[in-house]
Amino acid sequence: MHALTFEAVETIRYSTVPDPVLLSPSDVIVKVNLAGICGSDLHIYHGRETGLDKGTVMGHEFVGEVVDTGSEVKKFRTGDRVLSPFTTSCGECFYCHIGLTCRCEKGSLYGWVEQGAGLHGAQAEYVRVPMADSTLVPLSHDLTQEEGLLMGDVFSTGFFCADNVNIQPDGLYVVIGCGPVGLMAVTGARFLGAEKLYAIDTVPYRLKKAEQLGAVPLNAGSFNVRDYIMEITGGRGADGVMEAVGSENSLRLAFDLLRPGGVLSSVGVHTSEKFSFSPVEGYNKNITYKSGRCPARFYAEKLIREAAVQRCNISSIITHRFSLGQGSRAYEVFDRKLEDCIKPVLEVKSKKCEVRSKK
Ligand code: NAD
Ligand code: ZN
Ligand code: ZN
Repeated sequence: MHALTFEAVETIRYSTVPDPVLLSPSDVIVKVNLAGICGSDLHIYHGRETGLDKGTVMGHEFVGEVVDTGSEVKKFRTGDRVLSPFTTSCGECFYCHIGLTCRCEKGSLYGWVEQGAGLHGAQAEYVRVPMADSTLVPLSHDLTQEEGLLMGDVFSTGFFCADNVNIQPDGLYVVIGCGPVGLMAVTGARFLGAEKLYAIDTVPYRLKKAEQLGAVPLNAGSFNVRDYIMEITGGRGADGVMEAVGSENSLRLAFDLLRPGGVLSSVGVHTSEKFSFSPVEGYNKNITYKSGRCPARFYAEKLIREAAVQRCNISSIITHRFSLGQGSRAYEVFDRKLEDCIKPVLEVKSKKCEVRSKK
């Protein structure tokens, strides 16, 4: 089959790789219809996250159709439309039980193969899904493929980021970063009742989108956003800050904008070994710091239950569609923010393939 593989820093290739096969009775094979490119892929692309084997199939965001099932799979059949969280989960361990599905004891992240171990990704014609019954979520017909795709990662992650700041109707909140995740944090915060909501970036077209989604845009490239937030809060700072970038600068800014006793919710994937604020500074501000990978399986189910997608215009962040063969260009357009790109998706047209089973 064809797939986008990681070859070297800033080199993603449209390659021919072996078709995935069932390796365990709980696996399914999904034919990918739509795959996303995420800010997290850019960390790998730029070599900020290292360790990935050359030839790894990239990508952890997808929706598609089941084409083969292992003998123990009970909930899914050939032909079912499915969405997937960006990590797999067993549904049985301590972490799955407490809703922290992203830390499942048996879970894996799609698109991460290191020293031969791990799980290939979904920027491909087909993807193998381990522990399918507890990983996949049916894509019901009232959801579009685009909505399903965003629910598997960025909508869930943005919502999780907003959920973690414990929004109060009279509070003042700030989102740092207006990429797909930050924009979904804006959407999540509005959904959860934030009235005074600000969004920071330096890219005008992304700020414009944040404004459309209900935040007051603040361009950190044009003025001192810290001074501004202090001014409008009488010198106190924001009640909660949602950090959706993943850099030392953005974490420092998040800390600086926060009032004493506020909550710093960070979902940016950080690759730095140290905090941008010291234990003393954290202590002196009585901050609550929440961070980490989103338990997307838990949030996708919650968002479906609460019909959140139907009440939020999430698909409007998808600005670009590419074929899988244009994948390398798609990475470039997303990374360099060309053509006002916010979220690119890959439309995957699969060749007819014989999926062989090895049970
Ligand atoms: P993106 O790269 O498209 O967006 C990042 C945005 O931040 C850009 O618009 C950029 O202009 C802006 N930015 C950069 N530095 C800034 C600064 N100092 N102040 C304000 N804005 C700044 O990426 P994305 O897809 O939106 O992802 C955002 C982050 O979320 C990434 O680190 C990604 O890895 C992470 N992520 C985490 C999870 C999770 O489970 N925690 C899931 C998905 C993505
Ligand atoms: Zn992602
Ligand atoms: Zn588990």
